[in-house]
Amino acid sequence: MAQIFCDPGEKREDGTLLLSGENFHHIIQVLRLRRGEEFSVYFAGSTTEHRYGIERIGSEDAECRLRFSKEADVELPCYITVLQGLPKADKLETVIQKSVELGASRIVPVVCSRSIVRLDERKADSRTKRWSKIAESAAEQSRRAILPEVCLPHSVEEATELCRGAEVKLIAYELAGEQGASMDGTRQLIRGIRPGTEVCIFVGPEGGFTEDEVAVAKSAGFLPVTLGRRILRTETAAMTVLSWLVLELER
Ligand code: SAM
Repeated sequence: MAQIFCDPGEKREDGTLLLSGENFHHIIQVLRLRRGEEFSVYFAGSTTEHRYGIERIGSEDAECRLRFSKEADVELPCYITVLQGLPKADKLETVIQKSVELGASRIVPVVCSRSIVRLDERKADSRTKRWSKIAESAAEQSRRAILPEVCLPHSVEEATELCRGAEVKLIAYELAGEQGASMDGTRQLIRGIRPGTEVCIFVGPEGGFTEDEVAVAKSAGFLPVTLGRRILRTETAAMTVLSWLVLELER
């Protein structure tokens, strides 16, 4: 079933929906849906699926009518933020795509000391727009009921502060094992996560975290955890933890 995300302002009380712009292009010109066919719509801020049928197709818009609405039950029962140390560009796109498929609610690129990529304000803005498109496409493909947010790049201080209120804050630290952390400790933390809590996972860039960055995260309440005896690539780390959360939390 084709799926799109719309602004609540597009929802009409009479149960009709006018498809235009990028959504018209996607549904009518890319997916080539025809009159009488259906697609799902999620309006921002709601996890209710609205199924619309196409009634009239014009050259630039299409008139659709609501057929039914139902509460979607596809989201994990936690709000999950991935703080991703800014890696090389294409790797971040992989992290965003896989994090969305695995149920993340928000992805925040973090400019770490060892991040190779440096983005000026204009580039950061245009890259974030591209990253948001990747999140939207992954959310449509994986039938998410919400459109996960991709934030503008943050500093380590800003990012850890953003998540200060989360009940569970984990920093995947490649040296945690050498400093006494164990997989048992990681397992206990993951198994202790309860539905309804906010979770934050912080992953470093290819070059890893500096001790100062780990100290900043710890002062914001992050717990250093090991992800095992091997060193994972930065783009593997977040999806590893997210997979564990799916196993633990999916109903
Ligand atoms: N440059 C580091 C080194 O050689 O030790 C490796 C960094 S690793 C490629 C990138 C990030 O993935 C790390 O900063 C960490 O967040 C995460 N990571 C990878 N393997 C991990 C492990 N075994 N335990 C905890 N975190 C890990």
